Amino acid sequence: MGKHLVLVGAGHAQLTPLTRIAVYLHRGHRVTLINPFSYSYYSGMGPGLLSGVYDPPRVRFNVRKMAERGGAEFIEDSVSAIDAGNRRLLLRGGQILPYDVASFNCGSDVSIDPLWSLNSRMIAVKPVLNLYKARSSILNEAHGRPLRIVVAGGGPGGVEVCANLWRLLHNNGRPAQIVLVAGERLLEGCPPGARRLALKSLGGRGIEVIEGKRVRSVEKTWLTLSDKETLSYDYVFLAMGIRPSVIFRDSGLRVALDGSLPVNRFLQSIDYPELFGGGDCISLEGATLARVGVHAVRQGPILHNNLLAALDGGEMKSYIPKEDYMLILNMGDSKGILFKRGRTCGGRLPFLLKDFIDRRFMRKFQITGELDESI
Ligand SMILES: Cc1cc2nc3c(=O)[nH]c(=O)nc-3n(C[C@H](O)[C@H](O)[C@H](O)COP(=O)(O)OP(=O)(O)OC[C@H]3O[C@@H](n4cnc5c(N)ncnc54)[C@H](O)[C@@H]3O)c2cc1C
Repeated sequence: MGKHLVLVGAGHAQLTPLTRIAVYLHRGHRVTLINPFSYSYYSGMGPGLLSGVYDPPRVRFNVRKMAERGGAEFIEDSVSAIDAGNRRLLLRGGQILPYDVASFNCGSDVSIDPLWSLNSRMIAVKPVLNLYKARSSILNEAHGRPLRIVVAGGGPGGVEVCANLWRLLHNNGRPAQIVLVAGERLLEGCPPGARRLALKSLGGRGIEVIEGKRVRSVEKTWLTLSDKETLSYDYVFLAMGIRPSVIFRDSGLRVALDGSLPVNRFLQSIDYPELFGGGDCISLEGATLARVGVHAVRQGPILHNNLLAALDGGEMKSYIPKEDYMLILNMGDSKGILFKRGRTCGGRLPFLLKDFIDRRFMRKFQITGELDESI
């Protein structure tokens, strides 16, 4: 008898199941996708959305159309809780949705101290669409004194955002003072060569990088660093690391230390075999996965195979993570910094390679004519 598969969140890992909906329907099952928006954005090209290297149609998937054209139901909403004992999902809009098998790819948020007074000039770098909205508000600022912009967080996301902010301001003739507060060190945990190249690239453009300090608190127009120094700002971008979706913890499920859903090598919940997941919102038993989209993308085909196996019976495949992936930072000046297995190189070629890989990835999943849509 047909079963009900519910896909929660249209992140990078659910793109493969979404392009194969026909396979589930052909076997007599019903598929529902729940996502808060009709579009899902590709984070790897997000910083380019800020600088204007890319426009939204190039960077997003129309997941509503993908689902509906494939024959699935699309619900524009988000899951607020999982009643795993009764196999039901509670949606923010009030709907209760039963499932036989559910798969979670609902990503992560920037971890922001709840005591910080949030305002429209504090921009969390996730969801990625925030970067596009920030671009519009910055461009709408009246010309006058130089803008003061602080980027909090010196990881790959913070560096890319900082570098692409520079391009946005530079290309539009807007004078600005950009400061990156890096925490202990810029690109901590990345190869030393990448760190050197990033410091040189940012410094060469007049961007101040503060190391050895963190952003401690943020007020409406100024922020305080860990040594009590204060910086005033017009915009502050928050890129201080991420926190997996809180829905598992909020639902009272057993979670990993960071609140993610613990799964086995089949991407299957350890406690509830009918729950699966991929991307930033899960943690894999026996491994520590970096929170990068690469894992989510690689998990897609495994997730698809194992969802079918859970519905119909069949052999499950294991996700064996490889940590030898390549990362390329878009430095906003048509150059990139590439690193893989401790090796680093910088320049125009890495950027062209990143652009080629990213566009190829988009082409694979932009199956509903996204590029022809208006902004
Ligand atoms: C600026 C920046 C640049 C980055 N660049 C790279 C890069 O170049 N390469 C790389 O590998 N990684 C990069 N990353 C990391 C990358 O963003 C994440 O690892 C990746 O997005 C994780 O993908 P995901 O599929 O888990 O979730 P996401 O892509 O975040 O997708 C989650 C989806 O779930 C939906 N959702 C959320 N909550 C709910 C809910 N409760 N119910 C239903 N739906 C929900 C969201 O709307 C979204 O559609 C970057 C991150 C940032 C911030």
